Amino acid sequence: MKLPRHSNEPTLRLFLLRMAMPIIGLTLLIAIATTGLLLWSTIQTDSVAVSRQQSLVALIVSKLESGVAHDQESVTVWDDAVTALRKRDDKWIDTNLGSWMHTYFGQDEIYILDPTDAPVYASIDGSKADPGSYTSIKGTTGRLVEDLRARLKRGDTEGVSEQVLTIGVADLAIVSGHPAIVSIKPVVTDSGNIAQVQGEEFLHVAIRFLDGNLVTSFRKDYFLDGARFSWVNLQSSAETSYPLHSRSGSTIGFFVWQPDRPGAFVLFQLAPILITLFGLVLGGVILGLIAFRRRSLKLRESEDRIFHLAHNDLLTALPNRGQFNERLADALMRLPSTGEQFAILYLDLDRFKQVNDSFGHPAGDELLREFADRLRRLTTEADTVARLGGDEFIIIRRSVGGEDDVKALCDRLIESARRPFEVSGMQVFIGLSVGCAFAPKDGLDQVELVRKADTALYHAKAAGRSSYAFFVPEMDQTLAMRKGLEQELRKALEVPGAIQVHYQPLYTADTKEIIGVEALARWSHADRGWVPPDLFIPLAEETGLIDQLGELVLRQACRDAAHWKIDTLAVNVSALQLNNPAFAMKVTAILLEAQMDPRRLELEVTESALLERRTECKHNIEALRHIGVRFALDDFGTGFSSLGRLQTLEVDRIKIDRSFVHGFGRSNGDEAIVQAIIDLARATGLSTTAEGVETESQCDYLRELGCDQLQGFLLSRPVPKMRLQELLDEEVLSRRASA
Ligand code: C2E
Ligand code: CA
Ligand code: CA
Repeated sequence: MKLPRHSNEPTLRLFLLRMAMPIIGLTLLIAIATTGLLLWSTIQTDSVAVSRQQSLVALIVSKLESGVAHDQESVTVWDDAVTALRKRDDKWIDTNLGSWMHTYFGQDEIYILDPTDAPVYASIDGSKADPGSYTSIKGTTGRLVEDLRARLKRGDTEGVSEQVLTIGVADLAIVSGHPAIVSIKPVVTDSGNIAQVQGEEFLHVAIRFLDGNLVTSFRKDYFLDGARFSWVNLQSSAETSYPLHSRSGSTIGFFVWQPDRPGAFVLFQLAPILITLFGLVLGGVILGLIAFRRRSLKLRESEDRIFHLAHNDLLTALPNRGQFNERLADALMRLPSTGEQFAILYLDLDRFKQVNDSFGHPAGDELLREFADRLRRLTTEADTVARLGGDEFIIIRRSVGGEDDVKALCDRLIESARRPFEVSGMQVFIGLSVGCAFAPKDGLDQVELVRKADTALYHAKAAGRSSYAFFVPEMDQTLAMRKGLEQELRKALEVPGAIQVHYQPLYTADTKEIIGVEALARWSHADRGWVPPDLFIPLAEETGLIDQLGELVLRQACRDAAHWKIDTLAVNVSALQLNNPAFAMKVTAILLEAQMDPRRLELEVTESALLERRTECKHNIEALRHIGVRFALDDFGTGFSSLGRLQTLEVDRIKIDRSFVHGFGRSNGDEAIVQAIIDLARATGLSTTAEGVETESQCDYLRELGCDQLQGFLLSRPVPKMRLQELLDEEVLSRRASA
């Protein structure tokens, strides 16, 4: 009975697994890949930049070396210098070869060696010093001096050009605890006018420290941030270094600086933008997924709703006919493999129409919903309970053990329908009839099975309400007869004399005189003989022929009774007739036509007609009462109205149902009920008629109770018009005789 609803739980997991995670994962992957690529290009850019700067530093260092040599040549290629040295003109030497070099070119130490390599002059940090201090650096310069002398002697001129006028040697070395450029140049004539022996020139040794102010100028001149000298290759992650090698290949220290990292710079500029961008993309993706999820949930919901609407009854939410058919087909398909047997129970509410007519459709709906709930409670998950429409329901009872099983279920169903329904604040009593068919016993065809259950239902209804029946093949014939009957009733209504009216006299309880008659429809069928009204009246009501039939009976009865010497002509009227807006007018026309006094006509209606809410019904009753037509409440005690409501009903008489009269003498309290009805009717000013009087004792007892009129087989059966005429004549005769 459960709907195949989609649960949200596993679909959420599926959605996360199949959709959200891959998409978010892909987005993150793209983000990571992009970031990776960016980092890689940053690193590449930076390493290119760093290696460029390192080349720059290498160039600077070699430029420095050649620069020191170049600076030296401004004084070492000079006749005056050669002369001054030969003369040992100390003052001139100090001014031009020493302090000048310091102040102008920033050289830190200057030494001059004579042709024997003995120091003849020393200047340290711009001040003249003891030439003997040269010994402290001799270890560093010795080899260089030897090399230069050897080259000078050989007349080696390699490297001499327009810019470089003399050969020289230069190297990187540690001097006085400083990393330094050591450059040595011979002091030579510029004019060539002074004779000099190759290899025996004075040598000018210039030392330029690489730390200190030189490093500072680097920072400014070459934009080498944080440039410094370091003895060891220790640097922070932001720094890079360039090793300073001497000619012999030994490392004298490192030049360290913070290299320009354009890639990192760009990355830092881009990072916030990128992070925001990724955040936005990720947010967009997540929002998109949420929107997608919402939409697909909504879609699923509406699919569910459409599915539910297509497969379920709107009023009771039970499966509808379509779904029932699917389930039945399914059950039938499984039958051969499971070997089970199942039952189909066709349910129809008794008197539901009356509830609907009397209390209105909303009340009827309320009752149906309540009944559907009761059905749910009486069945199991394995069963299918469907509403076929109107007050018809159907149950597929799976895996039934046997007929007894189904009988027990039918009893429970009928019992539950018998319990009052609370509708519009009132307690309403209805009943239930059930027809059953079994598969495979009654067949394996879907349509056939349902039809057989329906046939059984029809028999259950015919057998008296609130009962059930199991299908047996003989039922088919009866149903076929009913179908035929409808056609024949239609025809009978057209053929004069086919429908006749019989009359059952109504007697005064005390004197047993005929005071009136009740007109009863009779159908004389060519083949079937007399068809009982209990069969054809409901048929006429169901098929809408009741208006025509009722009119025929009324017209005939009025014609017959117009000249009879009786007070009352009682005619039965169906509730359906009263709903016809033209009913009062038709009755009036018939009375006029028959020239009958309206005050002699008494219309017998059931409680359901009087409880009718429809204005047409009320108007009809009002209009007819206005011209003097009386109303009797038929079959009193069998409907759903209580004694308490008697006062509110607009009737002149009540007819106590024959079931109460038949109950006399059986200890079920019927006498007490009849007594109460009569007392109440008297108190309200209503007359009473007891129906179905069959014995003298019933007759006596009713008289004792104070009943006004009696009707029943004991006094007279319903008789044809001619016979009634005779009865009336006989009565006149006997009255005359007694008078
Ligand atoms: P009802 O209105 O209760 O009519 C009285 C029924 O009780 C008649 O049945 C009558 O034959 C039966 N009856 C009378 N005395 C006795 C008795 O002593 N014992 C028993 N067991 N029955 C008795 P009938 O003629 O078969 O009519 C059955 C029902 O059909 C009527 O019940 C009435 O509801 C309906 N009916 C008959 N003719 C008409 C008609 O022209 N129009 C409408 N709307 N309904 C009609
Ligand atoms: Ca009646
Ligand atoms: Ca009756």
